[in-house]
Amino acid sequence: MSRLTPLSGHQSNGQREAFKLPDASNALSAEVPKLVQDEPVVNDEPRPAPLALPTSAAGVQISTNSWVSVASWCVTNGLPGCALVLFQGRHLVQTARTALDLTPGFPLAKWRGANCWLAFPLRWDAAGSLLANAMDIEKTLKPLLSMAPLPTPSLSKGVIVVDPGHGGRNVGTQSVVDGKFEKELTLDLAFRLSGLLETRGWTVAMTRTNDTEFGVAERVAMADLRGAAIFLSLHFNSEPTRLQSGIETYCLTPVGMNSHLIRDSSDRPDLAFPNNSFDDDNLRLSMRIHHALVNASGQADRGLRRARYPGVLRLQNRPAVLVEAGYLSNRQESLLISQASYRQRLAEALASALD
Ligand SMILES: [Zn+2]
Repeated sequence: MSRLTPLSGHQSNGQREAFKLPDASNALSAEVPKLVQDEPVVNDEPRPAPLALPTSAAGVQISTNSWVSVASWCVTNGLPGCALVLFQGRHLVQTARTALDLTPGFPLAKWRGANCWLAFPLRWDAAGSLLANAMDIEKTLKPLLSMAPLPTPSLSKGVIVVDPGHGGRNVGTQSVVDGKFEKELTLDLAFRLSGLLETRGWTVAMTRTNDTEFGVAERVAMADLRGAAIFLSLHFNSEPTRLQSGIETYCLTPVGMNSHLIRDSSDRPDLAFPNNSFDDDNLRLSMRIHHALVNASGQADRGLRRARYPGVLRLQNRPAVLVEAGYLSNRQESLLISQASYRQRLAEALASALD
């Protein structure tokens, strides 16, 4: 596992956007995914073997060359009450359980107002039908539209591993306001969250409770040892321009899909990792967490994204989420994060998403 040095390790060298989009219209409150991340590149893991593309429920391989009429899919997908509804200029896919707000022309769906980036822009066919890529239908729209009301039964309260990112020599990024390192702030947030989760009935295991350095393999091994139901990794973000701010939430990219954020090694959509067994629950859990954080923080919604590089996610044998709870490189947001009351608000949002 590579080590980060203060203020330099989180820069965007070698990163690139997974796709290019036109400028966001006024209808979008989100910026398109940008190139910022801070999780160290990980090399201490076995290389997985390439697998075939995922299959749909009908046993048909999903192709990114395949496009699906959303309205027609609603009729055949088996989700109770599913329909595409036009309402005040919005394109809502509703089910008996929940709804998604689709943004034609952009790779974007909103759940309860919070942004979830798709793999491909939604588009129209010549006949005026709204089309979604088959990969987005199977790996994003369907899991979100079948999201159970809270609490999610499959994620019943048991052991949750809370992972304060970084530690020891791996300091993470650094606040431009008070010079605190990310490792200190993630530990503080983890303690606040752990207390709240325990009062809500979770058994909490933290990957570290002091300024100790652990590798990815050790963090994953702890979750295995404790039989964790959920793994939640806490981070703060940074980027060189110091202009970006807001909340990003990550889960592992499904097989066959391109990641929204790619680091210096190439993104391999053909590879399957252990955590890909939990694609649907990863997404549902990430969406709930992202929605709660955006609402509670009042900061920019930079969207739920898929990434393949965080080793701490891809080796997990349980639903796993990585949170970037704000930019320490942005003066305004860093000032907020420096306040204990704001970090408590973030912790309460995270805990509420797990209720
Ligand atoms: Zn980090």
